[in-house]
Amino acid sequence: MAYYETTRVAGRHFLQIPGPTNVPDRVLRAMDNPTMDHRGPDFGKLGAQILGNLRQVFQTAGPVVIYPASGTGAWEAALANTHSPGDVVLMCRTGWFASLWKEMAERLSLVPEFIETDWRRGADVEAIAAVLAKDTAYRIRSVCVVHNETSTGCTSRVDEVRAAMDAAGHPALLLVDTISSLASIDYKHDAWGVDVTVAGSQKGLMLPPGLSFNAISAKALAAAETAKLPRSYWDWRPMLAANATGYFPYTPGTNLLYGLDAAITMLLEEGLANVFARHDRHAEATRRAVRTWGLEIQCADPRHYSSALTAVRVPEGHSADGLRATILAKYNMSLGNGLGPLKDRVFRIGHLGDFGDLQLVGTLGGIEMGLRSAGVPHGTGGVQAAIDYLSGNA
Ligand SMILES: *Cc1c(COP(=O)(O)O)cnc(C)c1O
Repeated sequence: MAYYETTRVAGRHFLQIPGPTNVPDRVLRAMDNPTMDHRGPDFGKLGAQILGNLRQVFQTAGPVVIYPASGTGAWEAALANTHSPGDVVLMCRTGWFASLWKEMAERLSLVPEFIETDWRRGADVEAIAAVLAKDTAYRIRSVCVVHNETSTGCTSRVDEVRAAMDAAGHPALLLVDTISSLASIDYKHDAWGVDVTVAGSQKGLMLPPGLSFNAISAKALAAAETAKLPRSYWDWRPMLAANATGYFPYTPGTNLLYGLDAAITMLLEEGLANVFARHDRHAEATRRAVRTWGLEIQCADPRHYSSALTAVRVPEGHSADGLRATILAKYNMSLGNGLGPLKDRVFRIGHLGDFGDLQLVGTLGGIEMGLRSAGVPHGTGGVQAAIDYLSGNA
């Protein structure tokens, strides 16, 4: 029995929220080592190794900085290092997380211009292009996009956003939140011309919460020299200066870094292309199960389907939270809740991180049994549809 459980349910807990995700034993064992002197000679070697290998995960040749913070901290770092008070930021309300980022921008005295969506698709590239085309005075300092909107299970086409910015010839910076997509869904910081990539440890990177990241382009580094927002803890400059020799300007999350080193090794051993294909496959199997149940997928545009999670709508008159509570009590599995306007309307199946075929079949099995227990009308055979697909029988 885990120390936080109040009622014992036998068997392993299924943590199928879209982050934090299941932490592999290899990562847990790596963190279970004595904390070392973060100014000592060994630490610099570890730091240099991590900072070097991490670039491959972001698909960048440039620097990636690591904060001992949740993803929200890396959001703030991205904005604070590149903006001045009153700067206009173009954002797209793809869902709950995009809304939170916008609120943060306002608190930092930035001026968001917000493109609305129906929370059922990714960022509206045509609307972004139209706003940029009108901005001939270049008032817009940055375009901020959430790559994978974790509240809806919709993935934005960052490559298309970049192409729209290029077509408009607009000099804005491109900032992208990959907190729930990095190391799950293909993402190319350099090739897509992203200026700041924001990421977190507890989703595709298979670590506990507590680390977050900024990958930084040369253009963003130059912007940091003239940006006027106050920043201290988040300032890239002392961080990059210390990182040059593998160290940090303040105490890093030493044991989380042991875990990060192991997690990066595991990702590179599997091969990033294989990691992405595994997530794509699990997402497709999940959608086949959902359709067989006769339930609706929150993402309405197949081009924006997320490979990291699937948000599922419950029929009118039924409670997604009631269903989740039943599944937790009877089958010891946590699913993600609906956020904001989607509260009680959707449940979210996380299929990202350290996750295999049998875990997916177990996850879908728990949902199918839970739908029956909770009295949510559904067709049977969803798990079978997933098995058929996973075993090449579809
Ligand atoms: C989880 C998440 C966040 C928030 O990250 P924290 O680590 O909770 O601060 C932000 N954006 C997206 C897309 C997320 O999935």
